[in-house]
Amino acid sequence: MNYISTRGSKERVSSAEAIKRGLAEDGGLFIPEALPEFSLTMLTRWKNMDYRQRAADLLKLFLTDYSEDELKACTAAAYSEEKFSEAAIAPIRSLDRQHHILELWHGPTSAFKDMALQLLPQLLTKALLKTGENSQIAILVATSGDTGKAALEGFRDVEQTKVVVFYPKDGVSEIQRMQMLSQGGSNVAVVAVEGNFDDAQSGVKEIFSDAGVKQRLQAKQIRLSSANSINWGRLAPQIVYYFSAYIDLVAAGQLTLGEKVNFVVPTGNFGNILAGYYAKQMGLPIGRLICAANPNNVLTDFIRTGKYDRSRAFHKTISPSMDILISSNLERMLYYIADGRCELVEGWMKSLKEKGGYDIGAKLLQKVQDIFWSEWVSDELTQETIRKVYEERNYLLDPHTAVAWQAGEAYRKTGDETPQIILSTASPFKFNDSVLKALGVAATETEFAMLKTLAAKTGWTIPTQLAELENLPILHKDICTPKGMQQCVEDILQ
Ligand SMILES: *Cc1c(COP(=O)(O)O)cnc(C)c1O
Repeated sequence: MNYISTRGSKERVSSAEAIKRGLAEDGGLFIPEALPEFSLTMLTRWKNMDYRQRAADLLKLFLTDYSEDELKACTAAAYSEEKFSEAAIAPIRSLDRQHHILELWHGPTSAFKDMALQLLPQLLTKALLKTGENSQIAILVATSGDTGKAALEGFRDVEQTKVVVFYPKDGVSEIQRMQMLSQGGSNVAVVAVEGNFDDAQSGVKEIFSDAGVKQRLQAKQIRLSSANSINWGRLAPQIVYYFSAYIDLVAAGQLTLGEKVNFVVPTGNFGNILAGYYAKQMGLPIGRLICAANPNNVLTDFIRTGKYDRSRAFHKTISPSMDILISSNLERMLYYIADGRCELVEGWMKSLKEKGGYDIGAKLLQKVQDIFWSEWVSDELTQETIRKVYEERNYLLDPHTAVAWQAGEAYRKTGDETPQIILSTASPFKFNDSVLKALGVAATETEFAMLKTLAAKTGWTIPTQLAELENLPILHKDICTPKGMQQCVEDILQ
């Protein structure tokens, strides 16, 4: 299976090459040149497989230049019992026949990014071998919280790689900061930037596009790369849990094989929900994909009107991992909606860059709406949802998952009673401040004290890796200005 660009250049590359490069030469995203089918008969075999085997079984359809043994080694290392606190890796909790919660946060950083960022480094190191790459790969990450820690955990002590994470000095939560500053590993660096997330992100982009930096690093046999969610190696692992959740529900007698389900996905960069779109195209019986957004509702507007318009106020919300106005992975969905007419995709992306938006027109909008539905949820309603679901069902939602729950309820009001699988993307303990407030407890303490308060109030167990954070030594103390980031990277990569 080869990979092509969404923007239509003639280049065709192997999956290893696509994973190594991240982005296609013409600025587009890599997609598989054909979509493999995964029948329900094939899926039935999964009943007797653990998550690692399931992942290898699905990925071999996409990553055909990897051997089965290689894929098994990759998934075994990524989804190990040491790293995930639940043997099922992505367990599903059925609250009733209509509401099934897929918990994607049992990995080392307590958020769903682990599902992909544990596996990407494994796939990448194999890709380096396959493509004869001798250089060290330096992963640069600008983070607003979750991605940085997940990348650090995924790449720690992975051969031939280094990872440098920049975070806004006063722009992450106390828990997120401690998660990063206590990070162990011989190949990791964490630097606070005196600025906001945009400063850190722009700084990283500038380093990537600086020819001088590239040349100097090349002389030292170092190649820059990113762990951003546009990398195919981050997207493909996410397709697995859609199939895995479905077969788990069949095995549990909650669904009959072939019955339709809807997935509700809290969405930011459109990576998670796009994986669901792939699952649907490959044959999983999905009715609708419900795209849940917060007040940064650019995707809701797009799915309702066909017009993408990023020119709007940016809102800081209590579901910060969805605070995003440019959903990069949407480009892959547009490619399929446009039946592979790359010139259309290219035009829209150009218009997005130059005019801040684009319009796909009524005909293509209809195709989008046949598959996707969207609702956005205010912070107030998000907190109300956390409280209500906790009181009525004794289940604790984090704010991102609560946005999804509420969007799912709004969709149900359209009359579609299909069972819903709600993707839960973070442990409630990771956002304990907002969760406690939602439960009516004034958040006056430090975040570490609040962990205990939330546990005492609900009887839920604090994830070990969050419980022990407070007492870990701080291993990273570097601070730099946005202008100083480049020098900082070159010093670290000495
Ligand atoms: C990253 C993230 C999301 C958004 O996922 P996308 O793939 O960017 O759409 C949602 N919730 C949490 C907790 C996240 O970390």
